[in-house]
Amino acid sequence: MSGDGTQRVGDGTRCVRGGEHPTQEVGAPVHRGPVLTSTFHLGRPEEADAGADFYARADNPTWREFEAAVGALDGGPCTVFPSGMAAIATVLRGFTTPGRGALLPSDGYYVARALADEELAPLGIGVGYCATAGDWPAAIAEHRPGLVLLETPSNPGLEVCDVAAVADAAHRIGAVVAVDNTTATPLGQRPLELGADLVVAADTKAVSGHGDLLLGHVSAADPVHAERIRAMRTRGGAVAGPMETWLALRGLGTLDLRLARQAENARALAVALRETPGVHDVRWPGLADDPSHVLARKQMRRWNGILRFTLRDVHAVSDFLSRTTLVDSATSFGGIRTSADRRARWGDAVPEGLVRLSCGIEDPADLVADVLGALGQV
Ligand SMILES: *Cc1c(COP(=O)(O)O)cnc(C)c1O
Repeated sequence: MSGDGTQRVGDGTRCVRGGEHPTQEVGAPVHRGPVLTSTFHLGRPEEADAGADFYARADNPTWREFEAAVGALDGGPCTVFPSGMAAIATVLRGFTTPGRGALLPSDGYYVARALADEELAPLGIGVGYCATAGDWPAAIAEHRPGLVLLETPSNPGLEVCDVAAVADAAHRIGAVVAVDNTTATPLGQRPLELGADLVVAADTKAVSGHGDLLLGHVSAADPVHAERIRAMRTRGGAVAGPMETWLALRGLGTLDLRLARQAENARALAVALRETPGVHDVRWPGLADDPSHVLARKQMRRWNGILRFTLRDVHAVSDFLSRTTLVDSATSFGGIRTSADRRARWGDAVPEGLVRLSCGIEDPADLVADVLGALGQV
């Protein structure tokens, strides 16, 4: 996948030019658009035409465009799914057995934990947990999982773990390592290069980038894993619509620009919030003295727009959200509009007043002024 030449150019160029492109014949469309069909012409009934599209649950041209673009960024063959959870569920179900279960981050995305607890454990599949910043080699030795799922930086805590070191420990006992790369984005981190076997991600977030659709993907280092994931998708039937896939591909074209502005906003906000009375425990891995910084800098290529901080209690968060004009009270993240979410609301084991804030692409000065104003520090 990386032999297409796009690896040697910058992130902006890779976002625009990555993936398959329609033929450049005179009169051919520059953008093919979503291919809205369930069925394809089969040709002569005598023989199967190997490789040709026949039914859109198995494959279709819009998926291939998106998968080629994202797979080139991740560095391995990509399989698109209708949501991040559809991608994660496929990996959790496909790479665990009653003998070799799953080891997950105790502070990671809560629906992945719910799926493991509610659907895998009742089948006799072991489910173990380790904190993202905890001792993974020890947890791997204790649980002997078939699948290790990491999330770095974690959502919402923004803790990190050493992907290469965990992959080493997991591979020593023959486990498969998947990294939820949603927060980092494919431009921010390339887990397959760090030694992970699989990347899972919610493209609902920064990749599509406009908060208007759900989508996810799995990229694999090993083509055999990729084939298995595709077969599971075809049989399971949880498939992405061509329109959503195409909208995400359209969004991907500006990921480099959006990520740069989001990270600029996050840095400006994090620096300002640290000086603001009543705001505690400001975390953004891009700050040089953040506890995640040294490791994050070692394994990440770029920063992103997600930060967190803690206010006194739920009332302080409520006051803040009612006074701001540029921060939506909304879950999800990675979009063009700044949004904030009190995570204890969803059952995350975090302080009552912990806010995850996702910077959009507004102007940094406007955003800082609005947030500080809403916190009573004009
Ligand atoms: C949002 C999210 C998911 C789930 O993605 P959906 O598209 O909502 O299913 C998984 N992991 C992380 C880290 C997320 O932020």
